[in-house]
Formats: sequence, structure tokens, C-alpha cells
Amino acid sequence: MRNQNDLLASLTPPKHVKSNRKYHVLIVILCALIFLVSYIFFANRSPTPVELETALTLPDLTAKIENSATAQVTPPPLGQLNQTPVTTGIGKPTQSMQSHTTVWQEYKVKSGDSLSEIFSDNDLPRLDLYKIIHANDISYQFTSIRPGKSLMIGRDFSGKLTHLTYKKNIYKLLKATRNDTGDFTVELVEREMEKRLRTATGSIQSSLFIDGKKAGLTDSTIMQFANIFAWDIDMAMSLRVGDKFAAIYEELYIDNIKVGTGKILAAEFVNRGKSFKAVRFENPEGKSSYYTEKGNSMQKAFLRTPIDFARISSRFNLRRKHPVLNRIRAHKGVDYAAAKGTPIKAAGAGKIIFRGRQRGYGKVVILQHRQKYSTLYAHMSRFRKGQRKGSQVHQGDIIGYVGSTGLASGPHLHYEFRINGVHRNPLTVKLPNSTPIKATYKADFIALSKPLFAQLEQLIATSIAVSASAE
Ligand SMILES: [Zn+2]
Repeated sequence: MRNQNDLLASLTPPKHVKSNRKYHVLIVILCALIFLVSYIFFANRSPTPVELETALTLPDLTAKIENSATAQVTPPPLGQLNQTPVTTGIGKPTQSMQSHTTVWQEYKVKSGDSLSEIFSDNDLPRLDLYKIIHANDISYQFTSIRPGKSLMIGRDFSGKLTHLTYKKNIYKLLKATRNDTGDFTVELVEREMEKRLRTATGSIQSSLFIDGKKAGLTDSTIMQFANIFAWDIDMAMSLRVGDKFAAIYEELYIDNIKVGTGKILAAEFVNRGKSFKAVRFENPEGKSSYYTEKGNSMQKAFLRTPIDFARISSRFNLRRKHPVLNRIRAHKGVDYAAAKGTPIKAAGAGKIIFRGRQRGYGKVVILQHRQKYSTLYAHMSRFRKGQRKGSQVHQGDIIGYVGSTGLASGPHLHYEFRINGVHRNPLTVKLPNSTPIKATYKADFIALSKPLFAQLEQLIATSIAVSASAE
């Protein structure tokens, strides 16, 4: 102390030395004390150097959620939080770091990480981990965190864990918030997606997939579209250049960012001049289906194509030569070229009445449907395991896989449709009627579907106008 006082004295004009000496000593001691206390305080809670770099002051996610909880829960996406980081120098607390501010740190889950490891790596108390996991019956979901996803760790000014948020996916956040009793409240916050209606229209030039994409449809919407008409149109075999299509569908948004496509609300396909239209209707029990203008279900007893459309569509480009010709008259069936192993589906619900080898057909399955219908699937590479003669199958069940057994030049499905034992063309045969919408819902359906059918009509008209002007 003596030396410091001397130093002070040497820096101070001599005149005042005598009167101010005691005062200066006090100030120096005080400064040293403040420095010591703050050093101890920050040294104790100072995280590892890596954390210093990643420690970010982020907007209070929870505060935002709670403030807007009355209307709609819209926390900013975690990605967005990262774009506006404010690095906090731990050594120099600022005004913004007062008691209500949450200091957020994003932790990217690595493969092999467990929550307990993450807690110890980030100097979080095991007691908090225990409290979070045992908070309620959904809080165990914190233990099934996945690599690549983010955990947001929120601490208060003193470093105490106050929030833990796990982004399960773009729609769901698992949130733990410390409550007044010191325990945690855990909730699953589902983010509401905004649905925007979109329309698409076009005409077939090469295939539904290619022309659907040109019209702005995604793969999943094209698949939905094909499935709506799966009972009426063979999307692989029956398409012709100039066929028209139109769809009214949902696009899904979160924070004005498109996150996906939703359902098709209405769709139309004009195949060889014949129009097929459908509107989606969900009844009050939550069951949804597509119906015609008259209120008949699009679902029928038989699918037109007993192979997944997606698996064969690429081979059916109208601008290219068909790999396999439609030789109905020659052998009373339809041939679908498909890669070996492509699943074959039961066209309708029924019973397996034959499963084995027949000379030209190779490995073949024959299904009986009610009294008078039967379908036959030939040249299979193998049968579906677990099924046998006498097994009941549902429509769409896999019964075998494409191959080239028997008399086949290459892998394909040979498919036959018989009514009372007589071969019929599977592409054009008139199929049994479908069930109509329940009478109690008919009025609701008419009210909902009328404007949609009207809009479809307009869309198809524009599509025709566009292609006519292009020709
Ligand atoms: Zn054949």
C-alpha cells in the first residue's frame, strides 16, 4: 500500500498531496475490491471458450410465444434467430442483459449425443434435466432428440437455465419453461400453417409427371392427382397427347415461407375428350374422400392400374415409343413394362383363388372379387410372403412383384380382367358403381363443391385456350 500511495503521490500535484492522500487510498482499495468481486463472479459462471463464441443474445422466444398466445403461436423459426445474433461479451454486462432477458444458445445435436451429455457439456445442473424430463407425460420427448436438430438453451442473467426448446420439426416445438416454483412446464407447441389456394392447369404432351411439373405441381401433388383418378383412368396406358388437367390445391406457409403442399381440393382430368371431376369432402367425423359432381365417391371396386403409378410413369412418355405395346386382342390383357421387383397391387378387394405357376404365365396370381369378377397377374418374379390360396386381400394390397417368368420377353406385368369368365379390356371395362355421399352430408357437399367445380371449368377452359393459341 505504501508503494501505491507513493505512486499516487507522484502523479498528483504536490499541493494537494497532504489533504487528499487518505481519500485516494480509499478509492484504490474500493476499485480493487470491485475488480476482485466481479472477477470472482464472472469467473465462476464463465463458460468454456467455445461457448463464449456461440453464446448469443437472442430475442426472447418464450416471451414472444406467450405474448401472442391468445391469437396464434408464432415463435420465430430457429433459423431466423440465428441470423441476427448479438454477441455478448461476458466480461462487460450491458443494459440489455437485465433480469428479464434470456440469453439463448443454440446447440446442434450431434450423432450419439444424449440429453444428459449435452447438459453436462454445457454446465447445466442434472437436477434441471430431471425436472424437465419428469415434468409431465410429454416431456420424455426431450430424450429422443435427433442429430442435426437444434436445442435452444435459454439462461437468465445469472446463468440459470430458464428455457429449453427443441425443434422437433418445422411445425412442432417442444418447450420447457421454468415456472415460479422453480420446476419446469413442458408443452408441445404446434405452429399453425397458413394455407394458400393455388391452381394449376395444363395439357398432356409427354406424361402426367413431366407436364404436371411444367404446370407447377410438385411430385406429391401429382401423385395425389393420379390417386384421385386411379379408379377411372390408367395414368400410364390411357393418356393421350392433348388431354387436359386442372387442380385447385393448398400450399402451406409458415412465416411467409413455403413449407410444402397440402391437399388437392378439386381436380379435373379430360381424358380423350371425356371429363372426370372430383372435389374433396371431409365429413364431420373427419373422414375425407373425393366425390363427383353428383356426389358419388371416386373410389370404386377396381383400380385401373394394378402397379404404383409412380413406379411405371417414367416409362410411359407419349413422346417416346412405348416400351410395351397394348396388345389387348392378341392375348386379352394389358402389359405394363416395369422394373423387376416393382410391387403389384390387388386391383380390388377379393380372395386369392390361384397362386402358382402356369405355363405361359409363369408365376401367376388370380383373384376372385365378389361373384362375377376375377383379375389375373402374370410373369411375377416372386409372390408376396404370407399370402396363400384362400387369403383375403384388400384393394391396393401388394400380392407379388414384377418379373419375366413364363413366356415374357422382358420384365412386365400381364394383367387380365374377367367378368363371368369372359375377358374384358381392363382399360375400358365398365366398373361397378361406387357408393354415393351420405344423404345427411349431401347439402353440405353441394354448397362446398359448387364454386370449386365452377372454378375447375374455368381452369380447363383457359388450358384449352392456351394450347389452342400455341398450336
Ligand atoms: Zn401380356
